[in-house]
Amino acid sequence: MPTPSIKLSSGYDMPIVGFGLWKVNNDTCADQVYEAIKAGYRLFDGACDYGNEVESGQGVARAIKEGIVKREDLFIVSKLWNSFHDGDRVEPICRKQLADWGVDYFDLYIVHFPISLKYVDPSVRYPPSWDSEDGKLELGKATIQETWTAMESLVDKSLARSIGISNFSAQLLMDLLRYARVRPSTLQIEHHPYLTQTRLVNYAQKEGIAITAYSSFGPLSFIELNVKHAEKTPPLFGHATITTIAKKYGKTPAQVLLRWATQRNVAVIPKSNDPSRLAQNLDVVGFDLEAGELEAISSLDQGIRFNDPHSYDLPVTIF
Ligand code: NAD
Repeated sequence: MPTPSIKLSSGYDMPIVGFGLWKVNNDTCADQVYEAIKAGYRLFDGACDYGNEVESGQGVARAIKEGIVKREDLFIVSKLWNSFHDGDRVEPICRKQLADWGVDYFDLYIVHFPISLKYVDPSVRYPPSWDSEDGKLELGKATIQETWTAMESLVDKSLARSIGISNFSAQLLMDLLRYARVRPSTLQIEHHPYLTQTRLVNYAQKEGIAITAYSSFGPLSFIELNVKHAEKTPPLFGHATITTIAKKYGKTPAQVLLRWATQRNVAVIPKSNDPSRLAQNLDVVGFDLEAGELEAISSLDQGIRFNDPHSYDLPVTIF
């Protein structure tokens, strides 16, 4: 069964389940993307910062070459890194990322963070991560309006079909909507039962902006990064509220967490290297939770955020 999609304000359809490419190792990435396409995934959530766009593109190329999919069957997402926010840096870096993927347009190109960092020449270090060429975190000078205007020109030039934002607060989004000529199609945010961000989700959806959830399993993704409070937070997979619902429907806790999002029209982008998990993460639209169950999961909210740029040495917190 093809994955249901969300109609974006750009007019394009975005699959509600995709495959996230963060922390996918370079040596296995091409195979993982290829296997995911074979398993039925059509959306791939990549980024300059993940450092694996060349390998992701190799996986796509193999699947296309073997006739498993055509380019137009896929929904390829990439992100503008913080060091490329200056208006004149956006198009060149987008073109480099397209070349890395081996495609001539992105289905969706997202401003990764609302943070402008000093430019780093790709020939010096790529991906640049959070530090400047001098090895220090240095803020850049671009306003979000300058960056967004350059993002809009990517749509004009057919380099991106839709454009979006990530890690934006409601205030920044309100401001952006005042001047946007091309509205953001999506807002990608950390979203799991410990951080539901309900008001932000409702506001964006009311504005016709689709929400994509990242880190749907809460602390799990951040334990391997040694984020201290992730280790101390009770895992969602073992939480009684989740396991009870999972048992009732004969699904795994992971599937319940993903269905809690997709049933509220929130897209999800989990990743796995394991064939059975790959399949189960895609199989998260064929059952419905009761309203009381959705509420019980939402009531686990504690406002716990795991992906905070402060932990990457940004001296302030942006959320
Ligand atoms: P994830 O959803 O990939 O899950 C984290 C862990 O869960 C992984 O270690 C994985 O092995 C495991 N897992 C996956 N499926 C499972 C299953 N069915 N059962 C048990 N374990 C399972 O988390 P993530 O990487 O934090 O987020 C997903 C994607 O979101 C990323 O790959 C990336 O594309 C995107 N992302 C974006 C931002 C951003 O700032 N915009 C930040 C973080 C992540």
